[in-house]
Amino acid sequence: MKATDISNPEYFHKVVDCQFACPAHTPVPEYIRLIGQRRYTDAYMVNWESNVFPGILGRTCDRPCEPACRRGRVETEPVAICRLKRVAADNKDDADVAARMPTVPAQKNGRKIALIGAGPASLTVARDLMPLGYEIDLYDENAKGGGFMRSQIPSFRLPEEVLDQEVNYVTDMGVSALYNQRVDSMKAMLAKDYDAIFVGTGAPRGKDLNIPGREEAADNIHIGINWLESVAFEHIDKVGKKVVIVGGGNTAMDCCRTAKRIGGEEVTVTVRSTYEAMKASPWEKEDTLGEGIPILANHSPREFILENGKLTGMSFNVVESSYDENGKRTITETGEVVTLECSDAIMAIGQDNAFPWIEKDAGIEFGDWDMPVVDKVTFQSTNPKVFFGGDAAFGPENIITAVAHGHQAAISIDLMLNGQSVVDDRPAPGVHLASTKMGIHQWAYDSDVVADQRQASAHLPIEKALSSRKIESELGFDLDTAFIEAERCLNCDVQTVFTEEKCIECDGCTDICPTHCITFTDNAEEDELRQKLTAPAPNESQDLYVSMDLPTGRVMVKDEDLCLHCGLCAERCPTSAWDMQKFLYTVTKADNQPAPILAKHQQRTRPREQAA
Ligand SMILES: Cc1cc2nc3c(=O)[nH]c(=O)nc-3n(C[C@H](O)[C@H](O)[C@H](O)COP(=O)(O)OP(=O)(O)OC[C@H]3O[C@@H](n4cnc5c(N)ncnc54)[C@H](O)[C@@H]3O)c2cc1C
Ligand code: SF4
Ligand code: SF4
Repeated sequence: MKATDISNPEYFHKVVDCQFACPAHTPVPEYIRLIGQRRYTDAYMVNWESNVFPGILGRTCDRPCEPACRRGRVETEPVAICRLKRVAADNKDDADVAARMPTVPAQKNGRKIALIGAGPASLTVARDLMPLGYEIDLYDENAKGGGFMRSQIPSFRLPEEVLDQEVNYVTDMGVSALYNQRVDSMKAMLAKDYDAIFVGTGAPRGKDLNIPGREEAADNIHIGINWLESVAFEHIDKVGKKVVIVGGGNTAMDCCRTAKRIGGEEVTVTVRSTYEAMKASPWEKEDTLGEGIPILANHSPREFILENGKLTGMSFNVVESSYDENGKRTITETGEVVTLECSDAIMAIGQDNAFPWIEKDAGIEFGDWDMPVVDKVTFQSTNPKVFFGGDAAFGPENIITAVAHGHQAAISIDLMLNGQSVVDDRPAPGVHLASTKMGIHQWAYDSDVVADQRQASAHLPIEKALSSRKIESELGFDLDTAFIEAERCLNCDVQTVFTEEKCIECDGCTDICPTHCITFTDNAEEDELRQKLTAPAPNESQDLYVSMDLPTGRVMVKDEDLCLHCGLCAERCPTSAWDMQKFLYTVTKADNQPAPILAKHQQRTRPREQAA
């Protein structure tokens, strides 16, 4: 194999499993260490720079980082990354955060941008462009900003004050918020004096279920996302006693838990798939079951049952799922039919995009599934002035993906309006690599690998939780529990950096490494090398770190998959050929500067023992 080029920022970025998996590439271990040092405001700002909504995401994020977390490979459960983010948000100093918000120039740069839809994607564009002097008009058909975070995510998961605070951090920069204004014509928008338009209108159309009885029982059959919005905006405050939810995703989980709080006594979720194959996150399913709501898997809707023109139940075909060798699923009916009584039925079977307000001759090409043709890197449509992001760009995803899109779209808008190429002139990521060595056996990070199991986040007693849809049901970590959880982080951003010239090939590091991830061997092609390491390296999603040839003709090969970042190799090495170096990777934002808050915080990084 060729020697590894560690100067490529993406090499060590990939070793920081959680950060690499996060769509916005939030520097996770950086903020977890700050929580371990009880520096909550700093931890909050590290997050805010990257993901804009730490308090919201610390409660609601889909957490793609957690399945990737190295802790989950070392033992069974990943670090509770998401809930630690909430700790930073809940314990920050609000005044200090307000003082650290970016400065917005009083003198504007003369460019005006329209953002359509006030969800996380548009708010992120605003957050990145306001400090550059852009004037921004933010349109939304609703009375407040937040998009689906306000209209869909129930308050018992995301309290309104948390949402308001983080939406306001952005709009208080001087965004002109044009709420209660639905945009009905793209051509009319293009005719206005905007220099660029960003479409962040989400995926607002819920799917329906056209089975017998649908039309006749329409009064008591609801489309999940419309129903949740009506509850959130207080157009509805009750539901019948017996409620059936159809669907197995997170929307279904929000619908059933909401129904249980506004009058539903017997609430049942039905899903066509197996329980394991449901789309809802495992923790959403757990919370649902914990609130006494049964989930009936393998139930395929058959018909709505009416008596005297009123919905009284639903019947289902019981089905079985089988999978072929390629993982393709076939669902077959068993012949059994089940009937459930219900006074209301809620359809939570997915969402579609809908752009009835974009005229066909607005210069924006639409492709498959009636989706706009949007570049995956620049977020530009076929009309160079119009950008898309969030769920409007490629279909329904989640908040953190919308944020990631927003940052990239803001870069494109700024490049375009400065006469630069949205493709070729994109800024490189910020990278910082520095030794953490403080003494022979002392590092500027806590290198001990603790054996604690993942801590559980506390919940309200069930009766209290169900008493109102506005009471937050999960309490989060207290500070001591947060500390224990933070200590579980393996500091995957503290990299093992090897200097060939210093190595005397004593093999001391291979002896001490607890996971046997270092081997000195003859070089070979990757497949062969993976097999002949002291501990074979079958996980090809993780790289091998290969040195240049050493004096004996061998190479050092390290399997990045297994490393605990414990620093023992570097402590043992008599010549300091190994060093533990902290690597900070930041996605550069539209202002093309290294994040100032991170830079400030970096100067103050110190070992945990010295922290207050
Ligand atoms: C029930 C439910 C629960 C969810 N829970 C989570 C969760 O826990 N975690 C998570 O990460 N994601 C969750 N999501 C997904 C998440 O909410 C979305 O992926 C995210 O909000 C998309 O952001 P966005 O910026 O693309 O637009 P959205 O948040 O969808 O906002 C778009 C806004 O544009 C407005 N709008 C649309 N058309 C127009 C128009 N023509 N003129 C003016 N305004 C317009 C809409 O009213 C809306 O306010 C959930 C989704 C649903 C349906
Ligand atoms: S152990 Fe820490 S740094 Fe490593 S992947 Fe998990 S949270 Fe991220
Ligand atoms: S830091 Fe060094 S000793 Fe510790 S697991 Fe990684 S390679 Fe092995």
